[in-house]
Amino acid sequence: MAPRLTCDFCYHECSLAQGQAGSCGVRVHQGDSIRTIGYARPVSIAVDPMEKKPMYHFLPGHNTLSIALFGCNYTCTFCQNHSISQKESALFNSIINGRLEEVRCQEVVKMLISSGAPVMSYTYSEPIVWQDYMLDIARLVKEHGLLNCMVTNGSFSKSSLERILPLIDAFNIDVKGDEEFYHTYCGGRLQPVLDAVTNIASRDDKVLEVTTMVIEGVHTLDMIETLGRQLHDAGVKVWHLSRFFPHWKMRDINETSERFLEKALECAFRSDIEFIYGGNTMSNTWQATKCPGCDTILVTGRRYGTGASHFTAESITDGHCGNCHTSIYGKFGLP
Ligand code: SF4
Repeated sequence: MAPRLTCDFCYHECSLAQGQAGSCGVRVHQGDSIRTIGYARPVSIAVDPMEKKPMYHFLPGHNTLSIALFGCNYTCTFCQNHSISQKESALFNSIINGRLEEVRCQEVVKMLISSGAPVMSYTYSEPIVWQDYMLDIARLVKEHGLLNCMVTNGSFSKSSLERILPLIDAFNIDVKGDEEFYHTYCGGRLQPVLDAVTNIASRDDKVLEVTTMVIEGVHTLDMIETLGRQLHDAGVKVWHLSRFFPHWKMRDINETSERFLEKALECAFRSDIEFIYGGNTMSNTWQATKCPGCDTILVTGRRYGTGASHFTAESITDGHCGNCHTSIYGKFGLP
């Protein structure tokens, strides 16, 4: 009998017998290796503003070319992109049967260059489970002097994070709730995600932003406060809290009210994380970037995480506040 092989793409580290798929469904032991089903067959390619990732401290005001293959290693009942991530989705059969068009890595990079965007983003589904395709593109992107951004649930194995770090310049990591929340709603765990967040936050050459979708009636303010302390201790500088809308298997819960999000943002603010932002909200209160040194508004104009940034007159020069010269976390200009 052929020996089992272990996939090290995420911390599940599935041990797979010949022909067996991992819990993500897209990594399969075939022959003498583990293949990614749907490699080079994207389910989505689009040009977005960086703000839509959301990334507010990594080249705001610039566009990015976003790409996704099918798949995810979590089973979040509230998934906003379940049609391209969850195995129950009708699209999964098309992936298994190889019915999607192939887009080779070189073609993706050509699209990036012709779009004029300086950043390639791996996003929408979970790039950890298709990191082989991501890294093949990311290497070419680097060769052209351009940048890479990954939007992820942060469930790296230790070895996959080390493999990915040299090629990815910016991360937005979803930190979803406490351990019980991960166990009940996601089929995942918080601690390995916090470990990855701590590792990435310690690196001066990376930009890290964290996002939490706040579900009223499930997340409590105590949970937000505790999470804020954990993220602060992990070295996080930018935290987005966004409003939940009913999706997928969580349609029986109402959308999060503006009022509850506001309270959650106030809790988050007490964590002393330097930059706190609201997402999926009509309110402008938590959209601006303020200098942590002098409170001057440096960037405004973001609505629903999609609007382009507007840089105020004082704004940011060489990574510093134009008014008091305090250093502002992130990357705000191209070399
Ligand atoms: S990506 Fe994760 S869930 Fe999928 S096979 Fe590999 S270790 Fe298992």
